Amino acid sequence: MPALPDLSAIEALDAADPLRAFRERFVLPEGVIYLDGNSLGAASHAALAELDTAARQEWSQDLIRSWNTAGWFDMPVKLGDRIGRLVGAAEGQIVVGDTTSVNIYKALHAALALRPGRNVIVAESGSFPTDLYVAEGVVSTRPGTSLKLEGVDAPAIEDLIDETVAVVLVNHVNFKSGTLRDMAVLTKRIHDAGALAIWDLCHSAGALPVELDAAGADFAVGCTYKYLNGGPGAPAFVYAARRHHDNIVQPLSGWWGHARPFAMETGFAAAEGIRRFQCGTQPILSMRALKGALDIWDEVDMQALREKSLALTDLFIALVEARCGQYGVSLETTCARASRGSQVSFAHDHAYEVMQALIERGVIGDFRAPSTLRFGFTPLYTSYRDVWDAVAVLEDILASGVWKEPRFAVRAAVT
Ligand SMILES: *Cc1c(COP(=O)(O)O)cnc(C)c1O
Repeated sequence: MPALPDLSAIEALDAADPLRAFRERFVLPEGVIYLDGNSLGAASHAALAELDTAARQEWSQDLIRSWNTAGWFDMPVKLGDRIGRLVGAAEGQIVVGDTTSVNIYKALHAALALRPGRNVIVAESGSFPTDLYVAEGVVSTRPGTSLKLEGVDAPAIEDLIDETVAVVLVNHVNFKSGTLRDMAVLTKRIHDAGALAIWDLCHSAGALPVELDAAGADFAVGCTYKYLNGGPGAPAFVYAARRHHDNIVQPLSGWWGHARPFAMETGFAAAEGIRRFQCGTQPILSMRALKGALDIWDEVDMQALREKSLALTDLFIALVEARCGQYGVSLETTCARASRGSQVSFAHDHAYEVMQALIERGVIGDFRAPSTLRFGFTPLYTSYRDVWDAVAVLEDILASGVWKEPRFAVRAAVT
């Protein structure tokens, strides 16, 4: 491991950071070091301006005309194409809308319908839970279908992939450990067995370069309120590779997925292309905030983003291990750069209390049950100095034992 940098070396890193100008595009409170952009990305001036225009001009003044004049109706596909650049998808394959959970439901049904005669869904026991809950729901509506889990039915996901498997639902970056999977290699393994791959990009879209088309992915879903900074509850997205479009059937066949929504026909006829993944009227105010956020993303070089993300996480790991290792924290994220997302997790027996003490001191990360301190690194608005200062606060909290004060043990509904 290289020698630890000192404060002047940290300042030199910030001065040479090609992404440093992006920070002023965001609205961040004074005195806060925000290491939770992997849960809720920061607000940007652009997103707030879009919200203001959408509410005061388009809704208030232009009213119903805005569906056409302000492009409201086409926003889901237009924004989808802009996310496409960040996740390696050519135009016409991503639509924004609904939630990740709902899009997983649609994608799982679509994949199962593309693989008649196969009835197994494979997923990970360590997955973000909603993926598993939705898979259970899908199984409950399709007699004969079953769910097999990495970590329960076999140690490695590869061991579960055989000719009975219709679809593998897999996280690109694990929400808790931050482990990054090799998308191209696993997708090939899935295809060799004749199955389809659904990639969950919640912790990789906007966190690192993703290459959906090049990897041959079949479907993907992801959030826009995490690294993409779309705002609380911003609509999710779904990707389907063009080669599948004509044969996609998804069960939430609402009017926005109809070929002619305003013909008001009695029967359903699916729209061409990715539009058939839409269901009903979308949250336009949320879409407009997302549009503002994506205006910033249009300017971002994803390779530079990845370089800074790895440098920030390398630095955080090295500083915490050197300064806090003696206080019972142990690294849960891999040191191997190729397998790391843009977050770092440490286990601690009193992770909840330690995180509450950090938040009180202005260092905002989050806690994931049962014992994980989780820190997200968002290169557009996190500096090397932030990392340095955050570790100093963590060291102080652990060394002083202040986290033992009873107020830090009180649990809120959202952790
Ligand atoms: C955050 C997250 C979700 C969230 O799903 P919603 O339906 O938007 O609440 C789903 N999957 C993963 C992997 C996540 O990290």
